[in-house]
Amino acid sequence: MDRRTAKDILLSSLPAYLEQNGININKKFNCMCPEHMDNTPSMQYDKRRNICHCFSCGANADIFQLIEWQYNTTSFEETLHIACDMFGIDLDDRKHKENKIKMKPAKKKWASKVSQKEPEKADEYIRNKVYQAMRDIAPLTEKDIRYLKEVRRLDDKRIKKDYFRIPSESNKKETFLRKLKKITGYNNDTLKTVPGFFVNKSTKKLDYHSEDGIAILIRNVNGSAYAVQIRHDTTEKGRRYSWFSSGFAVYDENLDGGCSPGAAKDIIIPQNPKKCICITEGRFKSEILSQYNNIVISIQGVSTWKGINEIISEIKERYDITVLFMMFDSDVMGNTQLMHTLKNMTISIKAAFPDMLIAVGAWKIEYGKGIDDCIINGYLKKVKFIDAMSFFSTCEKNIDVVMRENGFKSLKKLKKEAQKEFKQKLQSTNEKLLNSA
Ligand SMILES: [Zn+2]
Repeated sequence: MDRRTAKDILLSSLPAYLEQNGININKKFNCMCPEHMDNTPSMQYDKRRNICHCFSCGANADIFQLIEWQYNTTSFEETLHIACDMFGIDLDDRKHKENKIKMKPAKKKWASKVSQKEPEKADEYIRNKVYQAMRDIAPLTEKDIRYLKEVRRLDDKRIKKDYFRIPSESNKKETFLRKLKKITGYNNDTLKTVPGFFVNKSTKKLDYHSEDGIAILIRNVNGSAYAVQIRHDTTEKGRRYSWFSSGFAVYDENLDGGCSPGAAKDIIIPQNPKKCICITEGRFKSEILSQYNNIVISIQGVSTWKGINEIISEIKERYDITVLFMMFDSDVMGNTQLMHTLKNMTISIKAAFPDMLIAVGAWKIEYGKGIDDCIINGYLKKVKFIDAMSFFSTCEKNIDVVMRENGFKSLKKLKKEAQKEFKQKLQSTNEKLLNSA
């Protein structure tokens, strides 16, 4: 990948980076600037500018600045390479590929806290037991059920298996936690190691923080619930989804325990699965795909695909898989960033499983952006499956074609309007390739 694209992808990975470091991006956290000994959380993620800003010392930081602080790097090259390693990006002109970057000790507490004191995390068995108990004692509202059935086309069985609503009012919270302890038989010491929970040091009470919304059990290859995702009722805070996480508690001296679920991948294995795997982004897309007996891996944010080969290999051990379908949003044909990220994922999968056939599911964006919209709108038969590598190379060739035809000199220098125009033109040019497929 070229450097410009890599930088763009990495900059947009800031929220994922923060979450990987156990930070709840909806809350303030301790300033990461090494010059600032921050004892009260004064730094916050600013969605509009996509940077972290400290209200106390005024520091602004993008992902590269944070990595420089965390790993004590001395050049941008070094920072960029660490970032690329982190997100599985291969730079075209990387000079010293063999020379793995040596991690230097961090200057600052927040980073050393992560590396020295890895928070204790409950194992798969405990997490599954706790999260399934939560589902059983925290029912959905009538409105939630209607939404899941009518808009998302889920059946009763699926709703019952994975969907619930975590109470957020303090009196309901108390009853909820009491029931949870009774059903699981776990005490505070165990529960504070389950992502989402922590203990308040002064009151010695178990607690959690959850946005109001529909909670979704995220399952691993074994079918164990090992993370909870929340679909917020509103997007007032800028984001529709967040993790049920207590990673922020690690940085708070008044709180005990806590950890984050990490970049959890979501796997649905239907009863009599076909011999293929679909990869998509987001639970409601994987729900629809699994209704057609597909095994589905869903990643939350395309830049967090690292680790997918381990999952594919575990599924392959149990099922005879020979084909893999990439079922991402249709704007992949106009969005160069998404295009490059998916191409990298494909290359990585192909390298790990050379015999695997990998195809991209592609359809006109007018049928619906996501595969769920496309199917619900009745256009499943219009979806074409194209060999992944030829799909990406054709799409990339068309970037040059569209630029030349429209006299665009450099993508980098395009103004916002021109960028939009470029995306649309690239999309329609690439959609034409569907007709010949
Ligand atoms: Zn600061």
